[in-house]
Amino acid sequence: MMQTLSSEHPVLIVNAGSSSLKVKLLPQALSLLVERIGGDVNIKTNFAELTAKGIDNHESAFKVCLEALAQELPLEKITAVGHRVVHGGERFSQPTLITTEVLASIAELSSLAPLHNPPNLEGIHAARSLLSGIPQVAVFDTAFHSSLPPQAYLYGLPRALYSQQGIRRYGFHGSSHDYVTRRAAEYLTRPREDLKLVSLHLGNGASAAAVSAGKSVDTSMGLTPVAGLLMGTRSGDVDPGILLHLLRSGMTVNELDTLLNKRSGLLGLSGISNDMRDIWQAAAEGNGHAREALEVFCYRIRKIIGEYAAAMGGLDAVIFTAGIGENDPEARALTLKGLEFLGLQLDPDKNNSREIEISKPESRVKILVIPTDEERMIAEATLQAMA
Ligand code: ADP
Repeated sequence: MMQTLSSEHPVLIVNAGSSSLKVKLLPQALSLLVERIGGDVNIKTNFAELTAKGIDNHESAFKVCLEALAQELPLEKITAVGHRVVHGGERFSQPTLITTEVLASIAELSSLAPLHNPPNLEGIHAARSLLSGIPQVAVFDTAFHSSLPPQAYLYGLPRALYSQQGIRRYGFHGSSHDYVTRRAAEYLTRPREDLKLVSLHLGNGASAAAVSAGKSVDTSMGLTPVAGLLMGTRSGDVDPGILLHLLRSGMTVNELDTLLNKRSGLLGLSGISNDMRDIWQAAAEGNGHAREALEVFCYRIRKIIGEYAAAMGGLDAVIFTAGIGENDPEARALTLKGLEFLGLQLDPDKNNSREIEISKPESRVKILVIPTDEERMIAEATLQAMA
């Protein structure tokens, strides 16, 4: 029988990054974040005082988190542990109960996500060893996009790269796109199966998804999360010839990786910051590079709305979510500029309010702001996988 998320059936969500560990117990909303593991460790929590002594790996970080949680509830009460796993490749299209065999597959997929899957695995190993009796589930960032058709996921490369090495578009932020499009359908009181939606997850990482009849049919991230929209520090799409050019001019692979993932995007273009608030402030003070960074950011999103309307043959609603999508009315307004011809009419007053629906009543296409809740989605998916 499927359990629903309740204080009787709490789920622990684990999100392990390369040097961080984020743990959250739902629905109690007890959260812990351990940062800079292996260095000058820092812990943030919303319910306890903790010291960062003796933490040198994910397992010791997890142990500290569990000791704190144990002060709040008996740990045996935890119904399941849901792990955010970045790359599920073609194998995982659903949240999956973790077995030794599943662990081996996630490890194999590390070749597609060398920066993400190995730390995710460390989190899983830590939880399996410290909470050994409790079922563990992997929820994949790529899974919601497993419905992409070949026309959207194939790159124009020799087929063997796809068939032998799995090089194709996978897409990420799946739990978020899934969650906000479900909430949008509920808000519109129409089945998601009847809707054509564009979901815009605009945070430090940013991606768009075309969701038609409840399925992701295209998305802007690719084999890796560096593709697509301009992001905080990631370039998004660039001419692949630029990479060849830089390699030929002597840049190393690691330097190129840092350039594309850490030094580009809003930060690279503005020369100021990866944080949208800093960019607006600099632009308001007359900084031209900051202004251009904003324009590139919004222009790319505007183009992708048109692209996805064409891909789906129509459009019922555009959804804004994540840090920028939820909190930045100016970015939303600049993004939607000139899209009235597509039926998108922004209401400036509502855009500056905290309402869900920010389009004018007569707007043919609805414009919605829906806060994302990836953790809740992971918790629900975890219970679903156990049923
Ligand atoms: P992450 O991908 O790290 O989870 P978030 O979803 O938290 O990112 O989004 C971070 C981004 O949201 C930053 O660029 C930040 O400037 C932006 N942001 C947060 N609050 C606001 C705000 N009030 N106005 C504009 N931008 C905001």
